[in-house]
Amino acid sequence: MPKAANKLEPRRSPRTQGRQGARNTSASSALSAVNNVAILRDLARRLQRAFGAQRWWPARTPFEVMVGAVLTQNANWKNVEQAIANLRAERLLSLAGIIALSRLRLQRLIRPAGYFRVKEKRLRSLCEWLDGRCKGRLARLAKTPTLELRAELLAVHGVGPETADSILLYALERPVFVIDAYTRRVLTRHGLSHDREDYESLRGRFERAMRGRSRLRRMNELHAQVVALAKRHCRVRPSCEGCPLEGWP
Ligand code: SF4
Repeated sequence: MPKAANKLEPRRSPRTQGRQGARNTSASSALSAVNNVAILRDLARRLQRAFGAQRWWPARTPFEVMVGAVLTQNANWKNVEQAIANLRAERLLSLAGIIALSRLRLQRLIRPAGYFRVKEKRLRSLCEWLDGRCKGRLARLAKTPTLELRAELLAVHGVGPETADSILLYALERPVFVIDAYTRRVLTRHGLSHDREDYESLRGRFERAMRGRSRLRRMNELHAQVVALAKRHCRVRPSCEGCPLEGWP
């Protein structure tokens, strides 16, 4: 996902964790009582008012979204852009181009994105899946149900839930919400989630809150707006004054 470095929160001391855990547990039960759906819809309204349409993903083609979704794992987006620019400059930003590349040359081109040996394997695996599945013609995936596609993506080497859901939402236009470290950070800081809440639970909560005809657009925007919020206000050291979520919920 395009964002600043995908860093997780600094570790808290066990004492602080204990207090936070107790707060989070009571916050979680309070949340289910006070209607998760209404709160998350309010979050979406506030962020829409504050940041407007973000028009994500910043890519020229769905294939480029897929490449970016792999390269952005634990990377700063600026560095991912450089890696993508390298592929484009060599006219290799295509399924055939990447598959034909030697291991070492692909590693050299994507090196700016970091972990380039790991990402070379992951990118190649994703491209091989795409080639075998539809020869890169995404329209051929149109009839596959979203959950089936998600399971296929999750079976690809190096594709975890966040990468799979970024691809589903931004490349394949499926209504799937992407959970990232920023979403967790914001919800946890507001007592609406906790460190142990798993990915699928959080995703389910957002997807239930965003049902309806325009859910694809709303999921697309909300995820991008949470990233904007985290970059401008909810950084590792939060800057709450003037933040659109000050005093929320
Ligand atoms: S910066 Fe904003 S989102 Fe983050 S904790 Fe403060 S008020 Fe909440």
